[in-house]
Amino acid sequence: MELSSSVIRAKKWLDKNEVIAIPTETVYGLAASIYSKKAIDSIYSIKNRPTTNPLIVHIKSEKELYKYVQNIPVKAKLLAKTFWPGPLTLVLPRTDLIPDYITANSESVAIRVPNHPLTLELLSSLDYPLAAPSANPSNHVSSTTAQHVENYFNTILPYVLDGGDCSKGLESTIIGFDKNGEPIVFRLGALTIEQIELVIGEVQVRKNLKEAETPIAPGMFSKHYAPKTPFFVVDNIDSFLESVTTDSIVYIGHQSRISNSKIKHQLLLSETGNIEEMASNLYKKLLEADSVGCDIIVTTWFENKNLGMSINDRLKRASVK
Ligand code: AMP
Ligand code: MG
Repeated sequence: MELSSSVIRAKKWLDKNEVIAIPTETVYGLAASIYSKKAIDSIYSIKNRPTTNPLIVHIKSEKELYKYVQNIPVKAKLLAKTFWPGPLTLVLPRTDLIPDYITANSESVAIRVPNHPLTLELLSSLDYPLAAPSANPSNHVSSTTAQHVENYFNTILPYVLDGGDCSKGLESTIIGFDKNGEPIVFRLGALTIEQIELVIGEVQVRKNLKEAETPIAPGMFSKHYAPKTPFFVVDNIDSFLESVTTDSIVYIGHQSRISNSKIKHQLLLSETGNIEEMASNLYKKLLEADSVGCDIIVTTWFENKNLGMSINDRLKRASVK
């Protein structure tokens, strides 16, 4: 198969042990060969990411899974077969083909097949998998467009593989397994609990993640995905607006605008109220709201089910406690 010219360029940099940005259906990633210690070190320093926070490994197909992980529970196989390529990351015991600097010395590795045509083409052209954490400085809002990546990293990266807007716009759902091979959701994300349960039955979601001293997935730390402007998520927008003194507010509406003199800017997640569209626009609108220069940003909670549950999780982490 002939490679796209942008994929050829991306491959050239990766083969030279450089870090580039790649598109996925979830968010953009900062990608490097898992076998280049130098490039992996630079991912950590570019992101200012603690070295205790392991990276997700991206592989080209479900078949490749068996090279990189072992003792795979039946439910993990079923999930991989059903949802890959897609926004689901599995945490499984690694084989010797995964270096310990990828997993922060953990015996398990987080792994997935991303669903983006350019990145799948790129992965198929490489003879190594890519480690690719989200393309944002640690604790900041993730990038869902090539422009977001440029805004964050401007001159630092030799190449950004532009794959357009991320279709899902939320990070992958991360699932690990207990000793009996039973699934535990480590991080909510673009694949909903309801979709997962249709395939493997009831799953447990880790509770009290904020209090955990050593989080299994540091994406679970309470402060994450945060804009610079103080961000409030409320039940009732009218009573919130009455209670604040500032009149320099950006309001992010789910699907409709409101009229209030304290609101200087309004952004909508979806004109039609489509939940997938709202999820895919969330980070874009948060970044836009952050750039307006108002005193605060405010939005309201979603109904806590399906994608609303994953969106609420991100709103919680991005907001003022
Ligand atoms: P990011 O790519 O920035 O969304 O971060 C990847 C997430 O996957 C982080 O929250 C990691 O902690 C989590 N993760 C990566 N590797 C592992 C692992 N071996 N075990 C548990 N969680 C992991
Ligand atoms: Mg991240």
